Amino acid sequence: MIFNIEQIRADFPILQQQIYKRPLIYFDNAASTQKPSQVIDAIRQYYEHDNCNIHRGVHYLSVKATEAYEEARKEIRQFINAKSTHEIIFTKGATESLNLVASSFGKRYVHSGDEVITTIMEHHSNFVPWQQMCLERGARMHVVGINEKGELDLEELKSLLSEKTRLVALTHVSNVLGTINPVKEIVELAHKYGVPVLIDGAQGVSHLPVDVQDLDCDFYCFSGHKLYAPMGTGVLYGKEKYLEEMPPYQLGGEMIKDVYLDHTTFNELPFKFEAGTPNVEGVMGLQAAVAYLTGLGMGNIADYEDQLLKYAFEKLSAIDGFKFYGTSAHKASLISFLIGNIHPYDAGMIIDKMGIAVRTGHHCAMPLIDFLKIPGTVRASFAFYNTREEIDQLVFAISRVKQMLA
Ligand code: PLP
Repeated sequence: MIFNIEQIRADFPILQQQIYKRPLIYFDNAASTQKPSQVIDAIRQYYEHDNCNIHRGVHYLSVKATEAYEEARKEIRQFINAKSTHEIIFTKGATESLNLVASSFGKRYVHSGDEVITTIMEHHSNFVPWQQMCLERGARMHVVGINEKGELDLEELKSLLSEKTRLVALTHVSNVLGTINPVKEIVELAHKYGVPVLIDGAQGVSHLPVDVQDLDCDFYCFSGHKLYAPMGTGVLYGKEKYLEEMPPYQLGGEMIKDVYLDHTTFNELPFKFEAGTPNVEGVMGLQAAVAYLTGLGMGNIADYEDQLLKYAFEKLSAIDGFKFYGTSAHKASLISFLIGNIHPYDAGMIIDKMGIAVRTGHHCAMPLIDFLKIPGTVRASFAFYNTREEIDQLVFAISRVKQMLA
């Protein structure tokens, strides 16, 4: 055992409860993770001692809240090893980060006849913004396919890169297949053509150590709530050279330098992209979450979750009629599956009644689900607070599903 699982579980109050008279087993971590007391306490501490609007006051509380917010930015910078805090923009989640880049990068860099490359395994949040931006700007969106293991077709990606390509946008980890994409290799490849790469890290940053300078990616984004932090928080990392050139995404307070009757000048980075009052409470929670994860060590988390994944694979493979979707050797700790001809929704309902939270459906990845020609999957996604005993319970629940529905 890499770390003390009992102690870790004790940090998560929500895991202590029973549902349907059984201990809650939470396997819906890809949708949102649970929050440790350290995060909940940070929010309470903020409201009890520091609450105030930031960046705009000279009085004690305003200065204190501003300093705390900017300190959090420094810690997030460190967590993903960005070069500068100018490159860390707080957003309300991965979706907002991706819309920001699609809108702002699109206006600045994408014109009629240009091309953007994305993949079939994207979450709608990293698909629809590019699709719509390309439609608006008369550009073309290419979609890279996958092989039978759920791995990207890198040869296809290579063949699509050209002088017309303006951006490659892809996920670090697929939220349906669990595939960990070789993002560093893809960045290297795209950079040979002078093409910047955006990585949707919504499912990456919670499972793997991330170093944006090592990856050399041009944009990286994620949501706080999938990283044990509050909902309504998120981060967009972008290289300064692009962020400087990109126009503001939203207009209003904080993002301006001077406003005149007939024109406005804009604030410096990162504030140019942070219009309006931000979610200060949430960022305090995000800072606490990052401190918590750093304490455990992202490498340790990745190793522990990998052991869970291997255990789950071994146990679930033994079930007759069990089919995995996503069998890449490089895979994060989530498993998508179907059991015989049983509809994922029916399976999910029975599994829920046994106290186990799994997600069913298209997982906001309809192009992928259509490509696989299935109605959706059941998805069990593991976090570092999950255990082998909980996986045994899932195996038992699946045997009940088969008994009842097969
Ligand atoms: N990208 C991926 C890969 C995801 O899994 C998700 C959420 O499931 C998102 C983006 C969107 O995240 P949010 O809804 O937190 O903005």
